[in-house]
Amino acid sequence: MLEDKNQTRTPLSELGEFKLIDRLTKHTKIHHDSTVKGVGDDCAVIDTGDQLSLVTTDLLVEGVHFDLSYMPLKHLGYKAVMVNLSDVYSMNGNAKQITVSIAVSNRFPLEALEELYSGIHLACKTYNVDLVGGDTTSSTKGLLISITALGQVEKKNIAYRSGAGSNDLLVVTGDLGAAYLGLQVLEREKQVFEVDPNAEHELDNYTYLVERQLKPEARKDIVKLLTDLEVVPTSMIDISDGLSSETLHLCKASKKGCQLYEDKIPLDQQVISTCEEFNIDSTMVALSGGEDYELLFTVKQEDFPKIKGNPNLSVIGHMTDEPELIQLVTRGGQKVDITAQGWNALDDN
Ligand code: ADP
Ligand code: MG
Repeated sequence: MLEDKNQTRTPLSELGEFKLIDRLTKHTKIHHDSTVKGVGDDCAVIDTGDQLSLVTTDLLVEGVHFDLSYMPLKHLGYKAVMVNLSDVYSMNGNAKQITVSIAVSNRFPLEALEELYSGIHLACKTYNVDLVGGDTTSSTKGLLISITALGQVEKKNIAYRSGAGSNDLLVVTGDLGAAYLGLQVLEREKQVFEVDPNAEHELDNYTYLVERQLKPEARKDIVKLLTDLEVVPTSMIDISDGLSSETLHLCKASKKGCQLYEDKIPLDQQVISTCEEFNIDSTMVALSGGEDYELLFTVKQEDFPKIKGNPNLSVIGHMTDEPELIQLVTRGGQKVDITAQGWNALDDN
């Protein structure tokens, strides 16, 4: 055994995910010129000659990232692939291959894992991606899925988190907050079901929300759209954790500030009506909800005519040369700091 001379014991809860990654990786040394980008973006970037190769990996853990009591295994397989492809598209690249590794307890029969793989295969077919390997092992409890995606992008088209310039427009795809609300609806139904297993499921009013939670689609179409429009984003990230967290990542990586306008945040009608019903703030849901797998990017002002009026794209703000000011401009015109948990900022109102 290695002797443990380090007596300090820092609880991980003191750090949070991002500080922990920083601590673990800050002394990482890069040994190869071909490693263009290591830790710190949605994908690692490797120079493979004519093109850049992209690599990203994600780990999903039962009880942490998914609950099998309302997540069908086929959907889980599909979503696990989407989570990874989304990171490739957020570099403005195209996903080509995935590997899939699973750790599984003996609670799962073969048929359950075949269900999981039917979702993985459907995702591969729909997104034109090849499943090329993986690993299989046992777990003492529950199911773990780790997927690695490989992609490619032409050098002139790559979009890092760090490229935003002052006055660039901040743009988001699709609409936000639905996946989070879908989860709330499913959690509520689960509780109803636990009390009364014969209860009718009341999901009719929430079909879009539940679909966004259970069957998200990564925005491959946006990479094509941007190519067709001849727009290369100056920076880009995918929205896995929520608009506020991803905006902070873009600003920090680009050393820029931003002004994000509350009234420009795109929300589906079902999100608005469900927020009213649940008595929660729809802006808070969009800022902090997560799992939307939309893309957040910046473009130069001169590209505005090319993206203007496109139903897939909403300009929600602009970047500034004041890195200390990352702000939400509320409907009332107040400016509040955006924090990783967007609702804290909103509490000041
Ligand atoms: P995303 O949400 O896009 O998947 P993460 O927030 O998980 O990105 O990770 C941020 C960055 O940190 C990425 O570059 C990722 O590769 C890297 N990273 C995360 N965990 C580790 C780890 N345990 N060791 C090394 N790098 C890590
Ligand atoms: Mg990402």
